[in-house]
Amino acid sequence: MSAESPGQKHGFKSFFNNALRPKKSRQTLRKGSRSTTDLRLAARSSVDEAPPMPELAPLHAHRLKYKELHAAVDTQLGERQDYTEIIHSLGTLDLNGNTGSAYEYNDHRPPGEGDIASLPSNLWAEIASYLNPAEAASLAIASITLYRHLGPKHFMRLDHPSNLTYKLTFLSGIDNTLPHHLLCIPCAIYHRRTQEGTERLKPSHVLNPLFKCPNARNTGNPPPRHRITHGRLLPFTFVQLTMRNHRYGPRYGLTPDTLGRRWQRDDWSHATRFHIHDGHLLMRVTSQTFAAPGLTPSAMRILLYSREDYWPYFSACAHWRDGELMPACKCALDHIPKVRQTGGLQGLEHRVKDRIAGQIFDPNALTTLCGFCRPMRRCPECPTEYLIEVKLCEDRTDGRFKQAIVVTRWTDLGDGTTPGGIEWGAINGTNGDYDSFEHYSKRGIASIFEAAFTADTLPGQRVLSLNPKKKKLGEKGNGWY
Ligand SMILES: [Zn+2]
Ligand SMILES: [Zn+2]
Ligand SMILES: [Zn+2]
Repeated sequence: MSAESPGQKHGFKSFFNNALRPKKSRQTLRKGSRSTTDLRLAARSSVDEAPPMPELAPLHAHRLKYKELHAAVDTQLGERQDYTEIIHSLGTLDLNGNTGSAYEYNDHRPPGEGDIASLPSNLWAEIASYLNPAEAASLAIASITLYRHLGPKHFMRLDHPSNLTYKLTFLSGIDNTLPHHLLCIPCAIYHRRTQEGTERLKPSHVLNPLFKCPNARNTGNPPPRHRITHGRLLPFTFVQLTMRNHRYGPRYGLTPDTLGRRWQRDDWSHATRFHIHDGHLLMRVTSQTFAAPGLTPSAMRILLYSREDYWPYFSACAHWRDGELMPACKCALDHIPKVRQTGGLQGLEHRVKDRIAGQIFDPNALTTLCGFCRPMRRCPECPTEYLIEVKLCEDRTDGRFKQAIVVTRWTDLGDGTTPGGIEWGAINGTNGDYDSFEHYSKRGIASIFEAAFTADTLPGQRVLSLNPKKKKLGEKGNGWY
């Protein structure tokens, strides 16, 4: 506090001077003079004792510090166990390192026509010879100059039946130019959408064509689809529509919310929900049914399997027969507490035993599952995760609370470009090379999905392989039934 500072004059003389001044001007003067001095002081101090420049920008420093502090992740799977941390880490994710969609359009590049034209045609032909048919055709269509160099040869090559997959890949690449059309997979042709913007997912027995297709009734060449549950299929066209909407805008398709459904069948109730993450469409199917305690093995089968096609009533991937999905479901059913007699001598005996053990019997107690049936299970061969729970649910028919088995399945449906995508192939059992523990090594599908709808977070828990021994017996195995 220096005596020269005008703002700090508190002596008798200054009091007298100030008292004689008109009030308003005094305030203005004091305010003005103080700020000028402060600025001057600040300028001086900034030269003398300037704090060293931080090496990192504050946000970046925060990210690094956060990563360091919260390195406590599951050593097996690299998953975070604390969901609050997950939510916090969403805010510190480095978006710059995120590789965006390959379909993002970049029109800020300098024109390169001159450079392209300057290279001889045989050199371009040589370049194209290193590419697969889809890539070569994409190169030829990139500009008129390239087309003049490469000619129509690469398009004709795509028409060969053996190049169907390449043709679909090439055609899906021009999706952004055709908002009113949809790529028909059996025909490998774009058809005009007949229900544009009002396409809705319907049960499989309802005829629901999205375009006029000559292959519509050709059972030898059916459109690709994925079985959700009995009588419910997810046609690939809906995955296409949703991902087109996500990539190019609402004119191209549907939002993921429009795909969600609730339905009941064979005493099971099902609910689906969809979410897009990192360019992939994710699906959650929750299926539940009331289960009585103390079911016999055959009663469990009746409860779990559809008699029509011997598939489980709940949603399952193509590999459900191998591994421990069905044994885990039966194990969970075994944990449902049995109803006890409360009257008579037997009831008294139970009460005495409970008193000695220091516990109170509650028929509506939460069912505790064991280390075998409680953990989240991930199919090693496709991007699918399962969680089995036993919950108390209200039975609307009589208003009573009863124990119900709830099987939730989370699946990655892929990027929706072609059914040749690795995820779509894996969940349908046509791509045998998929390793879900490699693709989802950091965070599980369920964890990603539930983080998007934070109100319903999952309790942190480990993820086990659905098929730890990787035995593949399919229908020949005996564990599935
Ligand atoms: Zn067609
Ligand atoms: Zn168990
Ligand atoms: Zn699977």
